[in-house]
Amino acid sequence: MKVRIDVDACVGAGQCVLAAPDVFDQRDEDGMVVLLLETPPPALEAAAEHAALLCPALAIAVDR
Ligand code: SF4
Repeated sequence: MKVRIDVDACVGAGQCVLAAPDVFDQRDEDGMVVLLLETPPPALEAAAEHAALLCPALAIAVDR
């Protein structure tokens, strides 16, 4: 799995961090998404996909 983020689309809602805190973080200064793991291990793939579904800005893409 490969995860991509679009920081320009991110609105800082934080849903991704709640869904997959090992894969996503938010910048302290403005809450924009930070990708911690571009290729999550299998144990985190479901959480990363869930985060992509939850993101209100469609700023997360997951490729398999
Ligand atoms: S859920 Fe989407 S909009 Fe919210 S912080 Fe994560 S990437 Fe940004």
